[in-house]
Amino acid sequence: MPDEGKMQRKEFINAKRIVIKLGTNIIRNEDGEVALSRIYSFIEDISKLVKKGKEVILVTSGAVGLGKKKLNLDSTSEEGVKQACAAIGQSRLMSFYESGFGVYDIPIAQILLTEDDFSLRHKYLSLRTTMNKLLEFGVVPIINQNDTVTPIQSGSINTGMKVNFSDNDKLSALVASELDADLLVLLTDINGLYTANPKEFPEAELIKEVESVTDDIMKLGSDASEGGRGGMKTKLEAAKLVTRFGGKVLIANGKVPYIIHKIFDGEDLGTMFLPSKVSLADKKRWIGYATNIFGGLIVNEGAKKAILEQFSSLLPIGIVNVVNEFKQGEVISIMDENNVEFARGMANYSSAECRKIVGSHSNDIENILGYKNYDAVITRDNITELI
Ligand code: GLU
Repeated sequence: MPDEGKMQRKEFINAKRIVIKLGTNIIRNEDGEVALSRIYSFIEDISKLVKKGKEVILVTSGAVGLGKKKLNLDSTSEEGVKQACAAIGQSRLMSFYESGFGVYDIPIAQILLTEDDFSLRHKYLSLRTTMNKLLEFGVVPIINQNDTVTPIQSGSINTGMKVNFSDNDKLSALVASELDADLLVLLTDINGLYTANPKEFPEAELIKEVESVTDDIMKLGSDASEGGRGGMKTKLEAAKLVTRFGGKVLIANGKVPYIIHKIFDGEDLGTMFLPSKVSLADKKRWIGYATNIFGGLIVNEGAKKAILEQFSSLLPIGIVNVVNEFKQGEVISIMDENNVEFARGMANYSSAECRKIVGSHSNDIENILGYKNYDAVITRDNITELI
């Protein structure tokens, strides 16, 4: 028996487009200074992958941490201070990548993103085109969150929907899934996902392979790590997002020397998250990954069943409530009567229009609104189920 797992390592690492995320804790040393030799070894390993014809996108944290070090600040809890530190640290961070990749004659590009760049379709399409061009030119795009213009927040607006990505784990998951990467590698300061927190329970064991990111797996995530904004919890959320529509994810320890080389050499390191079998058309994937969702529709049990089991459109008759405001063409959440989001879709009508036609028959839309552009509030092709 060569391997008892569901997917062999060789097949798992066989990827053309790879996103590698470097967390703050591996970009910095224990004293908060830049971990120069480690960064240069990442660059060396990535350069080899690029020279072999792989497309590598780097998502790097560390800007806030390096800026903080530069200003000799201990605490960065005040919001504007963090953003100022990010602006200072970002150029410092890029100077290391520029000089390192320069040695191997590999051009790099800096891309700073906010959540809107994914959730507004015209921005997303433009980002996609630019990224594809960069990769075609053999460039390594280096991405970080645009902290300077992003109020660092996470939380909910009425319905429990996420407002902003608050950490680079989520950002790297969006990059991987929205730009069709085959594999996302999250490098952090522990070996992978354990059966319990290894810092508290030394007998905890490393889980080598996760077939599906279930609620039980999610429970293994602990809170945010020191320094960066993520932790195991956000990494598991990232893994869930990426694997949902067919991507692969590896969580491994970035402090292991030459870890990237070892991973792509087939060494059995870290925790592999296997892809689900579902593969969706581009637009449906985009809808499924959409973020910054402010509005939604609560639908009755019949409409939920029709969407999930008969793959129907959402008609006004199945809607019981309209949540928040949204415009026609925006991606909104579709929730059941317990407020559980089970799908997302692109609205054919605005929230104001939806309020007028809630519970009505599609034949009455014209009488009520004075016009009718669609029978359905969300057309089947623009709905993506989340469960
Ligand atoms: N964008 C932040 C930085 O560069 C990191 C966010 C995170 O750690 O997830 O410092």
